[in-house]
Amino acid sequence: TSESVKFVYDFTEGNKDLKDLLGGKGANLAEMTNLGLPVPPGFTITTEACKTYLDSGEEPVELRDEVSAHLDALEKKMGKKLGQADDPLLVSVRSGAKFSMPGMMDTVLNIGLSDKSVTGLAKQSGDDRFAWDSYRRLIQMFGKTVLGVDGDLFEDALEKTKETKKVAVDTDLEAADLKKLVTKFKKIVKTEAGRDFPQDPREQMDLAIRSVFESWNTDRAKLYRRQERIPGDLGTAVNICSMVFGNLGPDSGTGVAFTRDPASGHQGVYGDYLQNAQGEDVVAGIRNTVPLADLEQIDKKSYDQLMQIMETLETHYKDLCDIEFTIERGQLWMLQTRVGKRTAGAAFRIATQLVDQGLIDEAEALQRVNGAQLAQLMFPRFDEGASVEQLGRGIAASPGAAVGKAVFDSYTAIKWSRSGEKVILIRRETNPDDLDGMIAAEGILTSRGGKTSHAAVVARGMGKTCVCGAEDLEVDTKRRRMTVGDTVVEEGDVVSIDGSTGKVYLGEVPVVPSPVVEYFEGRMHAGADDADELVAAVHRIMAYADRVRRLRVRANADNAEDALRARRFGAQGIGLCRTEHMFLGERREMVERLILADADGEREDALKELLPLQKQDFVELFEAMDGLPVTVRLLDPPLHEFLPDITELSVRVALAESRKDANENDLRLLQAVHRLHEQNPMLGLRGVRLGLVIPGLFTMQVRAIAEAAAERKTAKGDPRAEIMIPLVGTVQELEIVREEAEQVIAEVVETTGVDLKLALGTMIELPRAALTADQIAEAAEFFSFGTNDLTQTVWGFSRDDVEASFFTAYLEKGIFGVSPFETIDKDGVGKLVRDAVAAGRATRPDLKLGVCGEHGGDPESVHFFHEVGLDYVSCSPFRIPVARLEAGRAAS
Ligand code: ADP
Ligand code: MG
Ligand code: MG
Repeated sequence: TSESVKFVYDFTEGNKDLKDLLGGKGANLAEMTNLGLPVPPGFTITTEACKTYLDSGEEPVELRDEVSAHLDALEKKMGKKLGQADDPLLVSVRSGAKFSMPGMMDTVLNIGLSDKSVTGLAKQSGDDRFAWDSYRRLIQMFGKTVLGVDGDLFEDALEKTKETKKVAVDTDLEAADLKKLVTKFKKIVKTEAGRDFPQDPREQMDLAIRSVFESWNTDRAKLYRRQERIPGDLGTAVNICSMVFGNLGPDSGTGVAFTRDPASGHQGVYGDYLQNAQGEDVVAGIRNTVPLADLEQIDKKSYDQLMQIMETLETHYKDLCDIEFTIERGQLWMLQTRVGKRTAGAAFRIATQLVDQGLIDEAEALQRVNGAQLAQLMFPRFDEGASVEQLGRGIAASPGAAVGKAVFDSYTAIKWSRSGEKVILIRRETNPDDLDGMIAAEGILTSRGGKTSHAAVVARGMGKTCVCGAEDLEVDTKRRRMTVGDTVVEEGDVVSIDGSTGKVYLGEVPVVPSPVVEYFEGRMHAGADDADELVAAVHRIMAYADRVRRLRVRANADNAEDALRARRFGAQGIGLCRTEHMFLGERREMVERLILADADGEREDALKELLPLQKQDFVELFEAMDGLPVTVRLLDPPLHEFLPDITELSVRVALAESRKDANENDLRLLQAVHRLHEQNPMLGLRGVRLGLVIPGLFTMQVRAIAEAAAERKTAKGDPRAEIMIPLVGTVQELEIVREEAEQVIAEVVETTGVDLKLALGTMIELPRAALTADQIAEAAEFFSFGTNDLTQTVWGFSRDDVEASFFTAYLEKGIFGVSPFETIDKDGVGKLVRDAVAAGRATRPDLKLGVCGEHGGDPESVHFFHEVGLDYVSCSPFRIPVARLEAGRAAS
């Protein structure tokens, strides 16, 4: 089959849709090449080759010949050979996976330089300094990434040379200094790696390719993938790209740019430029960059060309792009582009801006945003008016309001956050080794680097608050403190950072609600002025989502107040009203009496007392949701939850007994607590079982619902109550409860003279219920999938315990990428849901189907529920906009 395999693609052969095979970088280099943009020629080794290497530990046999053929072609095109002594072709060997993993994997520049070709390069370029600088960079990068030498050894040697020569920056070093440095670097390699730096250019290239393959599986790459939910088996492509040089003097340089502001979405010139520099100098913050706008003064021709290219890219990709470019002696070269990451707010703004520009339609705009971004926009922000000392200001790199204790290294960030502290990770700049610390921190603050620095890019990707490049801050990691003017901030001092404004405060700043929430609450309208730009964009996209979605969205709400808020947020009913909350507070005593009742009479009295109170709750709820369905779940939790804690009560009784004044009621309570104590309460006397075992309990609740509905009807309201029986495992349970309920409803109709139609249905939250859904549908007018309990019982996971005990280990071992309590397990739990939907509808075609539980507000799960054909999802009021948006995305 060797004829059908193709492991290498020239840049002219690929295109942007081949990301699986060529990685994002390779696919887009090909796309730019074919657009006629100035891309240095090169070729891409596919992810398939990488996967073969990772699986077998060896490059596929065909790879060597294919690489040779493409290298030959490249050498012909460039008119020089790789590493040729008098005029060397140099290349970069660059990683590039399907999904961008900024700074996670390896890239080596200047491959092809050797003791011989460095002089050839010097002669050809007429610049000794440049040639030796490139060579020392190669040994440094190659030594670190390919040969695994500690990078600090090179850095230290470089620093020392700078000190001896009394210069501040590397560009001030002369050719002779760099030449000496090369000798030092080669010695470091020899001692540390136990081998000479390879002089054969092809060997350099092959080793670099292999090391890029291997960089897919470094710990930090794995951690990043887990965090970003990127599958672990994709592998990386490798790009071989002929070198262009930004370090050839002041008319050369390198930069990064966005086609529009990734924080606001506004069009303009956003980026950083660094003169006389190569590759990663910009991101690493070695020297201070200048804003991209300054390039207009430095090199007008290249600047204009760059602006032109950025417009071409935006129109072509129909989206914000970020780019890497290099200018070599006045000649502009494009080295990378991709659809750029952006903040949540910018995602909404850009999507509507692009609609207005006629580049995309509304359906596409809906796909450009997601529920996670919307949720992020609903976080509170800092109160502008608060009088807290502002420490400084940096670049607003990733929005949000974060408050925490200052820590200056990742290790402490992780340690403190494990013990429950909120921390802000403060660094001069971050690098991939800081990833764990960044994950652990509430927010990230750096004193160096711009919007494209490592900290900024990674934080935006994680949705974490970040302020970067706050240059007034003197960060001293060794002494674990920073100074700002006269103020010293020690480790442990509280700081607040605002990722939307870039402001940094000493102390805790109070927070205010987000404008998006204010808008959903109806306290702010989608006007046109600048402050409302975001709200206007959200408004438009939500309206579109509502127009196209099929799933209805209901709320989980237990009282009128929550119900009203849910309604403002767009709820189309209540999918779950938990009645247990109506049994707490002052009513607890009545419930205690109910539980303690020895005789029927006592129990009936207790129930009689509860009835009017419950009824009043429902009257208020039905009024709040007038005209919309309200699903009321009859009492579900085990009764011991309403009784005092067993240990506390035992101690109280024991103490009282020792004083000989034991209280009769406490003694009875203690007995009841013992009687009701269960080893596995979640699998015990709860749900429908309570209704069957405690006479009068469910009928009291049904009566309260029916009387409340009758009262609302008499008041000309439109109550739409639905009665839901929890934890049913067999249709027999449901039939008994149903019969009793129907009788009570008939009585209420009789006494009030109001005609009532109350739907009766059940939760599907036990595997047996799902498996016998066809039978259960005989007695149920609706199903509501209780996916929390269903997940618990299908997996046999106690949801109250597992997250704390072994889920971390499961997530680390990749058994699942995300907790099944967070995102529905489609293969297992989801299969039961899918089958139960079909079986239920087969029995009763007009069966209403919904889901209540955390999954109802989880974006990925919402798509699943859409796909299996539910009628609605129900979630907490705050998640409703998210569910509406995702239901729209699922349908369009
Ligand atoms: P990353 O994915 O970490 O950004 P890249 O492969 O893009 O890594 O390369 C790192 C840096 O080197 C970037 O700044 C890039 O622009 C630069 N670079 C890569 N290849 C070349 C090349 N052929 N000529 C000049 N600079 C290059
Ligand atoms: Mg790059
Ligand atoms: Mg349940």
